[in-house]
Amino acid sequence: MSDICPKCGLPKEICVCEDIAREQQRINIAVDKRRYGKMMTIVDGINPHELDIDTLISNLKTICACGGTIKDGKIELQGDHRIKVKESLEKMGFMVDVL
Ligand SMILES: [Zn+2]
Repeated sequence: MSDICPKCGLPKEICVCEDIAREQQRINIAVDKRRYGKMMTIVDGINPHELDIDTLISNLKTICACGGTIKDGKIELQGDHRIKVKESLEKMGFMVDVL
């Protein structure tokens, strides 16, 4: 038996709710300068109910080869990774703004 999507009631294989959720989400990427001149890439605008933020941050840490944490629902990556983060989020189907 296949899983049924709780939103639209269709089997998960043909449900597009997750795709729609991704398109509706606008994710902001910003760079923050911290103490001692350290740069942090901040990824904001993620809806934790529609996206697995833990999976996303581990993917981004691998792609950027850096450390990172989740703080107040935002992803913080060590260093300036705006371009890499933007490219990978767009590949996943998100709308991305770089601030
Ligand atoms: Zn659905």
